[in-house]
Amino acid sequence: MNRQGRPTSAGAPSPSAAPETFSGNKGLEQDEPLLFEIGRDGICGVDLPAPDKGIVSRLGGLERDGAIGLPGVSEPEVVRHFVRLSQKNYAIDLGVYPLGSCTMKHNPRLNEKMARLPGFGDIHPLQPVSTVQGALELMEELAHWLTTITSMPGVALSPKAGAHGELCGLIAIRAALEAKGDKRSRVLVPESAHGTNPATAAAIGYEVDEIPATADGRVDLAAYREKLGPDVAAIMLTNPNTCGLFERDIIEIAEATHDAGGYFYCDGANLNAIMGRVRPGDLGVDAMHINLHKTFSTPHGGGGPGAGPVVLSEALAPFAPLPFVRRAGDGFELVEDESQTKGENPFGRLVAFHGQMGMFVRALSYMMSHGGDGLRQAAEDAVLNANYILASLKDVMSASFEGPCMHEALFDDKFLDGTGVTTLDFAKAMIDEGYHPMTMYFPLVVHGAMLIEPTESESKESLDRFIRTMRGLTEQAKAGDKTRFEGAPYFAPRARLDETGAARKPVLRYTQPQQPAEAAE
Ligand SMILES: *Cc1c(COP(=O)(O)O)cnc(C)c1O
Repeated sequence: MNRQGRPTSAGAPSPSAAPETFSGNKGLEQDEPLLFEIGRDGICGVDLPAPDKGIVSRLGGLERDGAIGLPGVSEPEVVRHFVRLSQKNYAIDLGVYPLGSCTMKHNPRLNEKMARLPGFGDIHPLQPVSTVQGALELMEELAHWLTTITSMPGVALSPKAGAHGELCGLIAIRAALEAKGDKRSRVLVPESAHGTNPATAAAIGYEVDEIPATADGRVDLAAYREKLGPDVAAIMLTNPNTCGLFERDIIEIAEATHDAGGYFYCDGANLNAIMGRVRPGDLGVDAMHINLHKTFSTPHGGGGPGAGPVVLSEALAPFAPLPFVRRAGDGFELVEDESQTKGENPFGRLVAFHGQMGMFVRALSYMMSHGGDGLRQAAEDAVLNANYILASLKDVMSASFEGPCMHEALFDDKFLDGTGVTTLDFAKAMIDEGYHPMTMYFPLVVHGAMLIEPTESESKESLDRFIRTMRGLTEQAKAGDKTRFEGAPYFAPRARLDETGAARKPVLRYTQPQQPAEAAE
């Protein structure tokens, strides 16, 4: 226990035999309690005059009479608190972030500069359309490039994340089917799919049916054909798939789907591997979300919100949700309700306003600064980097599938057989090495998955250092050095946390500890 009464690294032997500190800090790594634990009654960051005694409340008896429960802290304390927390945050700006399927890309500073221009950063979604013509033009231009890159005629910009885009795409598919009087109940999803795919289909009432994979990690075309039928609304397929492999039969899959009267939803989260090389529209895709926060580098996770525009085929484009931007004379208008539509048949509205403006600006800035050749090179370098990792590690770690990969390299835990070290232990040891772990235990189709996505901006030197580290850890695990793994991370502010408990029973509200003695337990 340290001074704040928090468990330290589970009493594990520290490799460097470092002393436990009196302060709870470890060098420049400051221990940080909750703001509520720091706060004291009667402290405030600002001086406000005492309220007039004679004020008559106009809240009709609804006014609060107790304390509001905010922590009492001074301004410097608030600043230290948040700066300390920010320094615990691992980020792509700090080091390699090989989180597979998440495409943690460098976010060029130019994007940030553009997003902060007052004409983009300071506008309000309820401003009159005549005062935000530049912003609408930017949306229209982004739409143009998204549809050009994918060769799809329509796009809905408003979905706020990939999963939200999936919802948008499937509702558009349902609307298109309903418009034909065609009621269908089943959506086919490969077993390696990202969890959001079956969740989305189930959320709007479809029955989810799994498509088996072949031994080489791809959709089993024969099994797929057998599953197709007049009740299949759509297939949801990721390409490259979540094993980091290109689905070679994608055109046959698209044709078989269309022949059966269904639609082809492509999960476009992995567009970073193919942009500039392959246009999903040419493959027969009907709807695909684009995670601007993956492929087009806008920050995500702890760094910012996402954006998941959905590109749509000719068959689905008329059903795109409101609102959308349309050219009108010399300017642009925002189509906000059905009465303004001209032949379109929007399925409704997904969000209150227009989507994530800040992400639109960053994504367009990324596209324009890279140009077509630059985007294509980003995809090629992403694939090259992942294959460099795969080729450099497959003699000591177990690659799950034969042959080269696309933008991420998938390993399983076979190489750890007999060592007593698990994928989780291995990932925790990577934290001690200063690396954010790769994606673990996903995709579910291989045992103890380790999915490594290095992204294109890592230099060869940076990849070599990562590879040396991974090889070193692998050798130590095979040499039987279990303590290095079991107790890891030794150098992180907190050691092993009960992650399942935190997910199942999240404690989202601070409650004052009953007695100090109990709190120190
Ligand atoms: C990231 C991802 C999603 C979901 O995207 P969000 O923006 O996180 O909602 C869906 N499918 C795949 C394959 C992904 O990698």
